[in-house]
Order: sequence, then structure tokens, then C-alpha cells
Amino acid sequence: MAKPLLRSLVPGDLGPLVKELGGEAYRSGQLAGWLHQHDALSWDELRNLPRSLREALAERFDLQGLSPLERQVSSDGTRKFLFSLRDGQTVESVIIPMESHATFCLSTQVGCAMACRFCATARGGLVRNLEAGEILEQITHLRRDLAENPVPGHGDRQFNAVFMGMGEPLDNWDALPTTLDTMLGDDGLGMSKRRVQVSTSGPGDGLRRLLALAPGVGLTLSLGGTTDEERKQLMPVPGRTPLAEVIDLGARYARQSGRRTTIAWVLIAGRTDLPEQARRLAKLAGSGPFKVNLIPLNALDDDAQEPPSQAAILAFQDILNRAGVDNTIRLSGGRDIAAACGQLRRRRLAG
Ligand code: SF4
Repeated sequence: MAKPLLRSLVPGDLGPLVKELGGEAYRSGQLAGWLHQHDALSWDELRNLPRSLREALAERFDLQGLSPLERQVSSDGTRKFLFSLRDGQTVESVIIPMESHATFCLSTQVGCAMACRFCATARGGLVRNLEAGEILEQITHLRRDLAENPVPGHGDRQFNAVFMGMGEPLDNWDALPTTLDTMLGDDGLGMSKRRVQVSTSGPGDGLRRLLALAPGVGLTLSLGGTTDEERKQLMPVPGRTPLAEVIDLGARYARQSGRRTTIAWVLIAGRTDLPEQARRLAKLAGSGPFKVNLIPLNALDDDAQEPPSQAAILAFQDILNRAGVDNTIRLSGGRDIAAACGQLRRRRLAG
């Protein structure tokens, strides 16, 4: 059986651990630095730690839980990664180069139970939750990749992180609180809350737990429909939280965090690009502290659903604009490299 991943411990737990292993107190700060600032993946890299401490750590923990399997670079600069985990499962992560920084798209589960019809990850159902260390180590690999292959114009190592890869983050409560703790903590990655975004299909229980956790990071709600009936068709999970409740919880979270909740709207030709939906969406978004991201579908390999025409996208946006709803069209990057969430993994599973 695999050992626990050292990165799954919150930095605050490293002090007692180092003490238990006979190390001096200040070594825990060095260790946290290697894990979360210097992106170490092998024990040999922890150069300023005594060999005896490294050996004691290696006896109890694994430092690396992900091995790169594939790396693809799109003509638009998007980099997509497939990693194998220690149990042979695979997950995907993406680097999306923006103008001044990179955005990391991270996975939180192997597969997903949420069954969204526009998503390749949904096809195989949920396999398992990722451990916190497996989520955080995606950042480690992506930062190492950026250090080796910098994006011109990106001076520092700042990045944004979105939980928008494989999995429903609000369905993985084993790992989400620890992961956010380490990302936001000064002795972890020290990220600003503004740089982190949790993206969810809106399970009510998960949203209530997020409200209780109050992490202050951004929230994106993927609605999939402007009525409960529409949502059921695109997101056919039994017991899906009613739309009105999702909107209410999203608004409460926005008031708590002091930043507007984003509504993500995937545009699919003939299904979610209709004028009456734009009008209903405008009403929903206008009812509270929301803004809207319009995301034309990234078509899946084996799916009849198609992205909308440019004219339909602009007509949809025009209705939101006229209603005074703040919105942005987000083109998903990497169309030429199967960047839709879960596609790389599915291709590999299919051989
Ligand atoms: S879109 Fe997200 S929540 Fe929906 S099935 Fe895919 S990974 Fe899960």
C-alpha cells in the first residue's frame, strides 16, 4: 500500500512531525518551503535538510504521487497534462497562459459523479476523490513546467488556480479544506484569495459547507439550465438541488466573500443558446451579486452536441448586455488538443 503523501499534510502539521522525527524546530519551515515554494519532487532535492531527517521522512511518506504521462501544447499556448497516480488512475491539469499570468486548471477527483452532459469526465462516473497532496502536486508539476518553459512576458511565478478540471470540488470534502488551507496559508503557497476560484455544478450540501468554511475564494456556479427542467436535461443527477436554492446559496456566498459569484453558462448550439434562455439567465443573474461567463462548448470527440455559431453567441450576449448583466465570453483554450475537461483521459482509456 502507498504511503501517505507528505503534501497532504497542512504546513501546520509539519512542525510536530519534524519534532517527532528528531529534527530541530526550524526545519519544518524549510520543509514547507521545499514542498510549496521550491516544488520539490524528490528527497534529494531537499538539500539543506539533514540526511537523517530526509530518510526518516521517506520511511513514512511519499513525496511524489503524480507522474507525467502526456503533455500537449496547443497552438494558442494552452498546455494540457495527463498524470498517472500511484494506483494507476489518471487525472488532467491545464496551464492557460493569460496576458500577464498563467491560470492553472486543477482536478479534484478521478472522474465525477455529476453527469453533466457536456463533459467528458462525466462519462465514466466517479472513480475516487483525490487526496489534498494529489491536488497540490498538480500545482508543483505545472510550476516546474512553467519554470522550464516560461511564457514570454510573465515575469514572476504568480498564477491563478481554478478548480475546473476533472471532478466536483464540493463533492470532495476529504481534501478541499486542507487544499485551500495550504494554498492560502503563508507557510504554504501563500496565494491571495483573489487568485483562487472554486467552480461547481452546485450541490446544495456542498455549497452550504463552503459557506460554513468561508474560505473567501471566488465561486463559479455552472448552471446548465435556467429552469429546473432544463437543468435536469443537461445535468441529470438524481436529487439535483433546485435552481432557486443554488442561486440563493451563490448570492449568500458572494455577500460573505465580498466578491461577486460567477455564473458559468456553457453555450451549446440549439440547446443552451436560445434567446428565451438568455432572457431568463439575465433575470437570474440580475437578481443578485452575479456576473456571467459565457463558454461556447468545447465539442467532445463522440458527441452530437455542437458549439453555437458566432452569431448565436453574440445575440445571446446582446440580450445580457441590454439587461445590464456584466458578462464575458470565455473561449476555452486548446481546442486542437482535446482540452475539454476529461478528454485526454478518455482517449487514453479508450486506447
Ligand atoms: S462539468 Fe464538472 S461537475 Fe460536471 S461532470 Fe464534468 S467535472 Fe463533473
